[in-house]
Amino acid sequence: MWIVPESAIPGLVDEQSAFDAIEACFAAMARRDAYNFPVIREGLGEGRQYGFKSGLDRVGGHLGVKSGGYFPGNSERGIPNHQSTVFLFDPESGRPTAMVGGNLLTALRTAAASAISIRYLARADAKVLGMVGAGHQSAFQMRAAVRQRSFEKVIGWNLHPEMLTRLADTAEKLGLPFEAVDLDRLGEEADVIITITSSFDAIVQDAQIRPGTHLACMGTDTKGKQEVEAALLGRASVFTDEVAQSVSIGEAQHAVASGLLAESAIAEIGAVINGAHPGRQSADEITLFDGTGVGLQDLAVASKAVDLAVAKGLAQEVAV
Ligand code: NAD
Repeated sequence: MWIVPESAIPGLVDEQSAFDAIEACFAAMARRDAYNFPVIREGLGEGRQYGFKSGLDRVGGHLGVKSGGYFPGNSERGIPNHQSTVFLFDPESGRPTAMVGGNLLTALRTAAASAISIRYLARADAKVLGMVGAGHQSAFQMRAAVRQRSFEKVIGWNLHPEMLTRLADTAEKLGLPFEAVDLDRLGEEADVIITITSSFDAIVQDAQIRPGTHLACMGTDTKGKQEVEAALLGRASVFTDEVAQSVSIGEAQHAVASGLLAESAIAEIGAVINGAHPGRQSADEITLFDGTGVGLQDLAVASKAVDLAVAKGLAQEVAV
C-alpha cells in the first residue's frame, strides 16, 4: 500500500485537479454509481470530536474512509485543530491501498464543492464575491471561487474583525480589491456569497439577500449549526451535495424542520452536472448550495493525491 503523508500534499493536488475530482464525484453520486455510508461522529470530551466519513464509488473504484476530527488543544501544540487521515481500500478485495494525509485535502475538496456550485449556479455576469467567515477554510474558498467568474472585487464580513486580514491578504494575492463591509452591504453588493463559519445562529438574514444572488453555504456540517436565516431557504432554489446530509446536518436542517422547505424540493448538484436538472432558470432566481461535505469527496481527492504522488515519486510503498 502507498503512504502519502500530509507533508507531501502541498503542490500535489491543485485547485483544478480538486475541482475535476469533486465534479466527477458529485456526478457519480447523482447517477447512483456512488454513495456515502452513514457518518459517525463522537464527542471525546474537552471539546474533542472524532468521527468517520466513508463511502463507495463503484464505477470510480473508490472505497474508503476519512477518519479524524477536531482537537481544540492542538493550536497550543503548534498543529492544526482539525486533523484527518484518509484510508483507501480495493473495492474488490478490501485490501488497503493507501493512507493519505487529509488536512489540506479537506480544505481543497470543500473549496472545490463551492466552486462547482458557482460554476453551475451563479449568474454568468457575477462581479462581486462576498465572503462571510475569515477562518482557515476561507482563503481556500476564495481562491477556488475566483476561478469560476470574472470577479472584480471581494467584500467580506466576519464576527471577529481582526481575522479579516486573511481575506484582505488572499484577495491581494489574487489581484483583487477587498473591502470589509457590514452584512446589509454584503447582501446589496455581492453577486455570489460564500458562508464558511462555525456559527450556531443565522448570520445572513433573508431580507439582506437580493434576487439573482448565489449563496454557497459551506460552514454548517453538524446538527445545530446555522449560517443563514431559514426563510431564505424557503425563497431560494436549494441544491446540495447529498440530500440526506443536507436535511440532517446541513444548512437545510432548520428550514426543513420548521416546514419552510420540503426535502423533496432540494436538488443534488450532481444532477445539474449531469444535465438532469437545469440549475439556475432565471436571472432573478436565488440559488443556494448547501455544501455539507461528504466522505466520497475525501476519497476522490485522496485517490487523486495517490496517483500524483506515485507518478512524482513522492509516495512511500509499504508491504501490507
Ligand atoms: P476556523 O476555526 O478557522 O474559523 C471559524 C470561522 O467562524 C471564523 O471566521 C470565526 O470568526 C467564525 N465564527 C466562530 N464562531 C462564530 C459564531 N458564533 N458566529 C459567527 N461566526 C463565528 O474554522 P474553518 O476551518 O475555517 O471552518 C469553518 C467552518 O467550516 C467550520 O464550521 C467547519 O466545521 C466547516 N467545514 C465544513 C466543511 C464542509 O465540507 N462543508 C469542511 C470543512 C470545514
